[in-house]
Amino acid sequence: MPRRAALRKPLRIAILAILLLLATALALWRISKLPCWQMVGAVTCRVETDEKIVALSFDDGPTPEGVDAVIDELARRRVHATFFLIGSKMERYPEQAKRLVAAGHELGNHSWSHGHMVGRSQAHYRAEIARTDALLRAAGVARPVLFRPPYGRRLFGLPLAVEQQGYRSITWDVADDVGRHPTPAAYARDIVARARPGSIILVHPMYRGNRVERAAVPLILDGLAAKGYRIVTVGELLKREKPE
Ligand SMILES: [Zn+2]
Repeated sequence: MPRRAALRKPLRIAILAILLLLATALALWRISKLPCWQMVGAVTCRVETDEKIVALSFDDGPTPEGVDAVIDELARRRVHATFFLIGSKMERYPEQAKRLVAAGHELGNHSWSHGHMVGRSQAHYRAEIARTDALLRAAGVARPVLFRPPYGRRLFGLPLAVEQQGYRSITWDVADDVGRHPTPAAYARDIVARARPGSIILVHPMYRGNRVERAAVPLILDGLAAKGYRIVTVGELLKREKPE
């Protein structure tokens, strides 16, 4: 065999191996973001029901501006929602978490640091969940059970740790996309249009940049009500789950 041909073969194999690795990494990255399916354990992105009922969930924080913006709008309409809170933010604003509990809202665990939760150790996942769990209990939640992965991302390790610590992984089937709908009215219309019986809706109202989301909250609440939807917490929605 000529020397050049002999060299070409290992090169082809190396390129193929690199391409295969890249394709696997891309596939895993995509799988990690699927809201309604995960490789290990169970995840809930909505509940199968004919009842006109949806759960409204707010992620991140708590921050004073985020809680201020939504707590009165919810109270005015007698709606209770689920807030997935970040441990480190609760440490900074413990009174905001207590305010949400006092107003009758449900609190869930959204990790301690809100870092990426793929490819880390079990000890890391356990600490992220447990430290936040302690603050949820301190805020008055008797038995926290709902966990939402930061960015919705998870592969093997995180879902395992979530279940081992007595939590359930909760994602969403209707999420916000401010990029596509830059005004509160358009954004709210999109959310309301996509909601269906048993949906879990995700809105981000907590950070300073979330102006559109905050302004859209009353529009979303009224839009859902106008379509005949009752808005409940995730925990309340889960009671409609049919036994498998
Ligand atoms: Zn988040």
